[in-house]
Amino acid sequence: MKQQANLKSPIKDVNEQLNSIRNCFNPLYPLFTPRSRIVDHFSSRISFHSPSSFSDEDLYQHLQSLNLTFRASQVNHNSAAVITDGGVKKSHVATAAAYIWADNSVIKQLRVHSLNVTSIEAELMAIRTSLILAMEIDNIHDIMVITDSITAAKKILESKVNPLQNMFIPLAAAVKTFLSKDGRNKIRFWYCPSRAEWPRHKLVDDQVKASSCTPTFPSKESYLFSKKKECNNILCEWQTHFANSLKKGHYFLNFEDEKGIVIKPTYAKGGSWLPVIGFTNSLCAHFTCITTGHAPIGEYRQRFFPQLPTNCPCGKAKVQTREHIVMKCNRHDPSTQPCNTIINSFVHFLADNPEAFSFDNR
Ligand SMILES: [Zn+2]
Repeated sequence: MKQQANLKSPIKDVNEQLNSIRNCFNPLYPLFTPRSRIVDHFSSRISFHSPSSFSDEDLYQHLQSLNLTFRASQVNHNSAAVITDGGVKKSHVATAAAYIWADNSVIKQLRVHSLNVTSIEAELMAIRTSLILAMEIDNIHDIMVITDSITAAKKILESKVNPLQNMFIPLAAAVKTFLSKDGRNKIRFWYCPSRAEWPRHKLVDDQVKASSCTPTFPSKESYLFSKKKECNNILCEWQTHFANSLKKGHYFLNFEDEKGIVIKPTYAKGGSWLPVIGFTNSLCAHFTCITTGHAPIGEYRQRFFPQLPTNCPCGKAKVQTREHIVMKCNRHDPSTQPCNTIINSFVHFLADNPEAFSFDNR
């Protein structure tokens, strides 16, 4: 037993070192109690600017305003602009980078790394390190923070317990000190998505993407990272089970996405199939028929009602398969017929040919 305990100890230590979760909750921190929160005193001097919708037009308008505000900040000697970005590589190394601009030039550049954190934590890390630095610059009263994660930025005003809390406590405390110091001090957060390729943000984005850092030692995981890892493992198990299971039926049709990759089940964003189909009941019913093969067609009758006819009324197929109906049958407009199993093509076909796979069209 003694020997066993000796053997176990180092293994246990390594295991704990590798798998333990960083402490990230502090629900009793004074900054999060009512009447001490940033929003209770400084809500008029901290603002968030995002496009009014996800449309390209609104994004364009937003970027125009961002450009003008940035230029104005660079001619004001009491203003600085902080441009930040964060990202996580497949190696789980996170990079946070930022440029601090004042008087039309970059006065400071930052790049920091972390391990086993999620992308929102990388974004928050970028905002935290650069904004704290900018607030320490003499005679700066107006700071513009440009980020592609306004969600991460808004976390500094959250007062409820959340897994990022310990990460933004130093930032929230520094923001409160900065705003308390001078009535002119204000912070404006501007959203700038990486896909917009706004030139000054792209410089920072490129830094994050080009960064290569190899982890050489074990590291603890953030709570969110650990949760995400567990979730990914369960999802992977679910997808493998789905792929191998016969419960979905022998005739289950594996659709592909726009990239030609077979669609796997997922829980995110409404699932894998339903968001593509939309909310029309009849379309959804026909899509289910086509996917499972349980539809009033010859192929189905051949299996379950062999005494009934199996041919297609068009006269071109002895067995009316779903592939024949969708891709070859001359009863449907050829311009609506897909030539692959990409899910969108099938949904469009069903929308254009509502009689296909319906009980009225046997
Ligand atoms: Zn036919």
